[in-house]
Amino acid sequence: MPELPEVETVRRVLEPHLQNRIITEVQIHNPQVIAAPSPEEFAEDVRGQKIAAFARRGKFLRLQFESGDHLTLHLRMTGCLTLAPCGTPCGKHMHLAFSLNDGNELRYEDVRRLGKFWYTESGDADTSGTENLGIEPFDAALSVQYLREKCGQSRKPAKQMLLDQSIVAGIGNIYSDEILFAARIRPDKPCRELSEDEFERLANTIPERIKFFIEKNAITFEEYTAAEGREYRNTPFFQVYGKAGRPCPICGGTLKRIVLGGRSSVFCPHCQQ
Ligand SMILES: [Zn+2]
Repeated sequence: MPELPEVETVRRVLEPHLQNRIITEVQIHNPQVIAAPSPEEFAEDVRGQKIAAFARRGKFLRLQFESGDHLTLHLRMTGCLTLAPCGTPCGKHMHLAFSLNDGNELRYEDVRRLGKFWYTESGDADTSGTENLGIEPFDAALSVQYLREKCGQSRKPAKQMLLDQSIVAGIGNIYSDEILFAARIRPDKPCRELSEDEFERLANTIPERIKFFIEKNAITFEEYTAAEGREYRNTPFFQVYGKAGRPCPICGGTLKRIVLGGRSSVFCPHCQQ
């Protein structure tokens, strides 16, 4: 599933091509991807809207309209957004397309059809789940005190705390492994046993790692389009994720894999105490 750095990449690549465009038509090929309101209302409400900004919150994307209304979307496992000239051939997994007044269309493709779109009128409550998200990794409020308050009494493993979207939004299985490795904390260490120094390292490495991977993900619009919106991951830069059994990049010991709450986690038993 795309995590914050990948979602941010999509946002950065597409925003300049969406800003100030007007959505002239909405084609719904698969109503299943529309979470709210009904597909008919969705199409009617979105048609004619002018895009003011393309924003991100956690792993969610948001088309902010000049009217004050907005459209929230979540790519889930296999959702892809692409931009192509209207009427050019599209794949069989295209579920939704927004025609723009510049002759292009914003397409949503999704093999597994798990992604969702929510349209929210200005002043109404957004039901996408974004209202329950915790702070962003770059929020100045991310501090030792904040993390302690949220999980300092919890038996939950540190890994699960990082995956909890209501604490810090946007981190998933990949970047939680990378953050814990950089912070030298075992993924299964209960939050209430984390020292002041460990909380400090977490508060520092969360924004540092996320920023690092956003920068490594940088891709041009042409590269993004050539890969049909699918390839924008920084695989060569992972230190531990997906590398169980391979040598630790710091000490050379063997990286181990454990399963916590149904999610696998890779770490170095020597460097992460
Ligand atoms: Zn190591």
